[in-house]
Amino acid sequence: MVPSSPWPGDAKVAVMLTFDFDAESGWLSRDPAHRDRPGVLSQGRYGATVGVPRLLDLLAAERVPATFFIPGWVAEQHPEQCRLIRDAGHEIGHHGYLHERAKPEDPEGERRAFELGMKALDAGLGVTPAGYRSPGWDLTPITLECVRAHGMIYSSNLMDDVFPYVHRGTSVVELPVQWALDDAPFFLMHPTFLNRPLQSPETVFGIWRDEFLGMYEWGGLFNLTCHPQLIGQPSRLLCLRRLIRFIKEHDRVWWATGREVAEHWRARTA
Ligand SMILES: [Zn+2]
Repeated sequence: MVPSSPWPGDAKVAVMLTFDFDAESGWLSRDPAHRDRPGVLSQGRYGATVGVPRLLDLLAAERVPATFFIPGWVAEQHPEQCRLIRDAGHEIGHHGYLHERAKPEDPEGERRAFELGMKALDAGLGVTPAGYRSPGWDLTPITLECVRAHGMIYSSNLMDDVFPYVHRGTSVVELPVQWALDDAPFFLMHPTFLNRPLQSPETVFGIWRDEFLGMYEWGGLFNLTCHPQLIGQPSRLLCLRRLIRFIKEHDRVWWATGREVAEHWRARTA
């Protein structure tokens, strides 16, 4: 039995806009040799130089909250952009240190990266993140233990529901994600290292619009994941703005950050 409305104010749906601010770290973690490929790195750097400021302008103009997941290394390399995000009032969550992909065979490496990421967000931004989004949404058997050990209240990585849920035996709330609500499968491309067809923003708008309509009927969590280096291109920012305005045409929508959704879910299931 699906609850009638699990959301505050009897909202029909909760909408989270999330942005994984990977900058160059996403490319460096794919292949350390990218360090010597300025062209490849420039795709990531665009997220910092153009994507973030343009995105912040859009979010401010539309008056909607967002959650940015930032690797510690990015907080160190692009402190100015990270401060802009923080000072605009958006939530900042944990996204690893150098965007390390989870390796179940290296728990110590994972613990170390987790720690470094926490330290960098604290040192550079004075931020103690409430939530964790793993690079690439990959988890290992110890990831949730790290989340809990660092006092965080949520993870936003798994795909097994359309409503949040509390991980068994913990108070960690999962804020589910899915590939169709991620801009990367449609827009992340490199002709040599990640050769796949780019999609038109028109196509992607249609997918996101229809997914919103479905979620609106179901009353779940519409959790969109974008990347400043991808969504920050001109036509794609128009696509995002169009989506935000389309959602605004609907009543009873709760726009929230990850922290707000997790706190709400914890309180109602306590
Ligand atoms: Zn990422």
